[in-house]
Amino acid sequence: MPAAIVTGSSRGIGRAIALRFAQDGYDLCINYVSNREAAEEVATGVRETGQEAIVVGADVSDPEAAKDLVEHTVEAFGGVVHLVNNAGIDQHVYTENLEPGDFDHVIDTNVNGAFNVTKAALPHLREAGTETEGPFTPSTPSVANVSSILAYTGAPIECHYAASKAGLLGLTKSHARDFAPEIRVNAIAPGHVETDMTADRTPEEAEEERAAIPLGRFGRPAEIANAAAYLRDATFITGETLNVNGGELMR
Ligand code: NAP
Repeated sequence: MPAAIVTGSSRGIGRAIALRFAQDGYDLCINYVSNREAAEEVATGVRETGQEAIVVGADVSDPEAAKDLVEHTVEAFGGVVHLVNNAGIDQHVYTENLEPGDFDHVIDTNVNGAFNVTKAALPHLREAGTETEGPFTPSTPSVANVSSILAYTGAPIECHYAASKAGLLGLTKSHARDFAPEIRVNAIAPGHVETDMTADRTPEEAEEERAAIPLGRFGRPAEIANAAAYLRDATFITGETLNVNGGELMR
């Protein structure tokens, strides 16, 4: 069976992407950094669809852990055909209040993490190119990097987060050129999605953010999973960013 890795899939958007990929017929590597119980629950959800799942704790910012994550997947499933670099962290602090190490921690997780897992998965994604042609799936090997609307707009209390998400767009285009024609590499840039990451807004802040969205509500993790499934199967799209934000970025 073709297998996919979704980093940071114990919760939120990553969880929704993993469950969607399982429904679409993929075995899954569920990854977490600290929340094993939640990751195990997602794996149970994957198995309920009839697909296989493994759970691997790995801090994607550590290149060796990223390698282990990929190796475990290849051992379990014989290969990997899709990678979603979703793991990410955020922190709401003005620049003058950032402590030494804060900036690097966000960049290490959000950008270096995507790079580390992609690099480790690269030979296996290349190999998968020849194995996945056939009636089972129309998709060719792919990487999707989960960026953010803040990559375009910036954010006053999240400068490191916005910088990391803008960095991911450069990484996406570079890898799309680098890995073509065997592997497609795209990005997803969600707007505000209801997950643990956005749960700390005050009602006033949430209302202000909601009011800026033409569709009048926040996104749902399953709606980002739709975008990930689309890019997974979009065999003539590479180097693109799919904006999923309820119209917030429209001009
Ligand atoms: P979330 O609910 O906070 O979940 C974050 C996930 O990433 C968890 O599974 C967490 O694992 C994992 N993770 C964090 N650091 C990691 C590390 N070093 N190594 C491996 N896994 C790690 O976040 P979310 O809202 O679903 O966000 C998912 C992605 O979408 C992120 O890249 C985020 O920047 C992006 N995004 C989110 C929004 C939004 O509005 N929510 C908007 C735009 C972009 P544990 O459970 O073990 O902690």
